[in-house]
Amino acid sequence: MADLRAAAEELLPETVDLRRNLHRHPEIGNDIPITRGIVLDALERLPLELNLHETTSGVAAVLRGGQPGETVLLRGDMDALAMPEETGLDFASEHDGFMHACGHDLHTAMLVGAAKLLSSMQGDIAGNVVFMFQPGEEGHGGAKFMLEEGLLDSSGDTPTGAFAIHVTSWFASGTVNLRPGPAMASSDEVRVSVKGRGGHASSPFAAVDPIPIAAEIVMAVETAITRRINVFDPGVITFGSLQAGTTNNVIPEEARLMGTIRAFSEETRAELHAIVERIATNVAAAHTAQATCEIRPGYPVGINDPDFTAFVTEAAGDLFGEERVAPVESPMMGAEDWSYVMNDVPGAMAFLGACPPDLIPGEAPMNHSNRVVFDEEAMATGVALYAGVALRHLSR
Ligand SMILES: [Zn+2]
Ligand SMILES: [Zn+2]
Repeated sequence: MADLRAAAEELLPETVDLRRNLHRHPEIGNDIPITRGIVLDALERLPLELNLHETTSGVAAVLRGGQPGETVLLRGDMDALAMPEETGLDFASEHDGFMHACGHDLHTAMLVGAAKLLSSMQGDIAGNVVFMFQPGEEGHGGAKFMLEEGLLDSSGDTPTGAFAIHVTSWFASGTVNLRPGPAMASSDEVRVSVKGRGGHASSPFAAVDPIPIAAEIVMAVETAITRRINVFDPGVITFGSLQAGTTNNVIPEEARLMGTIRAFSEETRAELHAIVERIATNVAAAHTAQATCEIRPGYPVGINDPDFTAFVTEAAGDLFGEERVAPVESPMMGAEDWSYVMNDVPGAMAFLGACPPDLIPGEAPMNHSNRVVFDEEAMATGVALYAGVALRHLSR
């Protein structure tokens, strides 16, 4: 295990170079050809079977060990966000309006590092490692497309374990943070349209004003959550958009709401869907208006397999010392399409602390901030952790 750390440290300069190259060229969505090209170049001399996916820019690279055994899957996501970068870094984005603000450039570079490290020990590995380079995590469901295109058949054997790392400035650099069970929320979008009857603002009695009805729906949904949802299995609905009307003296015909629905169990998720649908249609009906409610399902709840999580915790403790491994107290409200993979394979996602040493974890600009910066030294921890978890899983 100490060897893995040393080997990962040795790879750090090239891991940093690769990360900076990716950082300069952020791309979003499922079609990210420049990023895929950079990754393929970096993997070029390694003894890997490369499966280039066709529905997305995903790559599933297979390392076959020298001895037979199970298959383990390691994942790094590769996509960026549509937002301007304001970090002032000398390797800042060269694509205007796009930024690697979630650290996926670090994930990709770390996964390449792990592929190099494990390739160097190919003969001693009992089983196969699938390196999943995934596009479209930020709301585009890239993981789902890769699953549909046969990700889990990449080596010929379904993986028996799956592991992902996410960097965050939330935790001290080089710490490994995870929790068993629900770790990340499901995320669905809701759109409500309230149809009333337009008219003169001076005479609301002769119209059906959709604006107070929309406001009442928002308040009634928030109240229902406190009354209908089990406090020990929480959920959130936030309406982030309420749009109606054009001027001060006209009652509009329609008001529109858009919101997000988050939960940590499928039960609460279904209950939240029912609440918003029931309240929207019935509150509108009570005021002689009509509401339609459309729910667009997004990522499912991210559930870390308890046994696999305990196993990763143990592996990380052996690698870096127990003082660098911490349980995450509560789940994160963020969502991840890694949950699709964890629905099919026992697995876990660990948060790798990457807060720069001169900033304070929790106060530093966070993931998705236009000013977020990550400590690149943490990537040595990530490379060793990917490799350590894979080796340990295959030699159980
Ligand atoms: Zn993100
Ligand atoms: Zn992310």
